[in-house]
Amino acid sequence: MTNSATHWTLDHIREMDARDPLADRRDLFAVPENIFYLDGNSLGALPRATPGRIAEVIEKEWGEGLIRSWNQADWINLPARVGAMIAPLIGAETWEVVAADSTSVNLFKMVAAACAMRPGRRKIITETGNFPTDLYVMQGLESLLDGVDLVRVGADDIFEALDEDTAVLSLTHVNYRDGTIHDMAALTKRAQAMGALTVWDLSHTAGAMPVDLNDAGADFAVGCGYKYLNGGPGAPAFLFVADRHQEEIDPPLSGWMGHARPFDFAAEYEPAEGIARNLCGTPAILGLAALEAGLETFSGVDMDAIRVKSMALGDLFIDLVEQMCGDHNFTLACGRDCEKRGSQVSLHHADGYAIMQALIARGIIGDFRAPDVMRFGMTPLYLRYRDIWDAVSGMAEIMDGAVWRDPAFSERAAVT
Ligand SMILES: *Cc1c(COP(=O)(O)O)cnc(C)c1O
Repeated sequence: MTNSATHWTLDHIREMDARDPLADRRDLFAVPENIFYLDGNSLGALPRATPGRIAEVIEKEWGEGLIRSWNQADWINLPARVGAMIAPLIGAETWEVVAADSTSVNLFKMVAAACAMRPGRRKIITETGNFPTDLYVMQGLESLLDGVDLVRVGADDIFEALDEDTAVLSLTHVNYRDGTIHDMAALTKRAQAMGALTVWDLSHTAGAMPVDLNDAGADFAVGCGYKYLNGGPGAPAFLFVADRHQEEIDPPLSGWMGHARPFDFAAEYEPAEGIARNLCGTPAILGLAALEAGLETFSGVDMDAIRVKSMALGDLFIDLVEQMCGDHNFTLACGRDCEKRGSQVSLHHADGYAIMQALIARGIIGDFRAPDVMRFGMTPLYLRYRDIWDAVSGMAEIMDGAVWRDPAFSERAAVT
């Protein structure tokens, strides 16, 4: 990586922090001292309000309210309430989003339902470099559904691959590895012109950058609660069904929480009206309460301000790697142009795994994606420009001193 035009100094960095309109948001999070957390794209940081909220749900609502809390604390409507909080972040109406299940399960539900709405069409089109669970879920659907083939194409060949035999286009909006952003509006338009439906995975989009599902004309979407939405490990995910499809969609996981009247205990399934039919089983109240607290950190924040800071943090990170680590064989694994990448910076390095372990041992936390990608997430709600400076300074010391060569840093853990 070559040197950029600006030579950054600590004075510049202090000035940027002083002028940052989102600076006060960091106080909403419990980021540990001396930790430089560049992994909010995998697991968002803990909001300060979450432990109290969870304690209240456990001690008061569960402990004292017991089963009465389904009504008295309105647990039963928590999936819809949390969905309505996610809606404005993704350009949806409040009644088009619900929080439930995991991203993997929601993707199954949406792609299966979309296939059923396009009978006789053979293809599900996706991208070769899509997130593995998305590929695996669709491989499962391919073997489950007679006459449906999963067609995987390179990112640049999607447009051409869409044809009149396509039932569904299923893509992740922002690629997890290199941060590439798909043109949602153009691809949706093309898919629909061919008569196909679209399912967008917003796992690396929701809470990271503005997106407008309805403006793009998207049909269905899913996304993750524990990344940029700060919902906590394994938080419930969300799904979106465009208003025009809500009465037509036939849920493939037709559980009782999606029934029109679950507490009639009727023997026959009858789908609920609206988004609720896309629920399956009993909602995970503790997880939803934590996700609700995570989403409150977005209250009053403009997604455009998040995007502006996210791009500036990423650009600064890249500039500083060029300035401080220019001799150490890092190459960019994401777009240099911030308009073209999501809220992350990815670097290739042949020894990326060991370098990342050495960074983590110093409190500079990113992650590693095989075969050689070091990923650094930019989360504007709780990162300061100073954190980027300190993180890259630490990285330069680790590289200059070859600290990462310690064999302990090459041992692979189960989760990378
Ligand atoms: C993180 C992520 C998931 C996670 O799925 P889970 O069911 O929560 O394990 C799915 N898809 C994409 C694109 C992701 O980035």
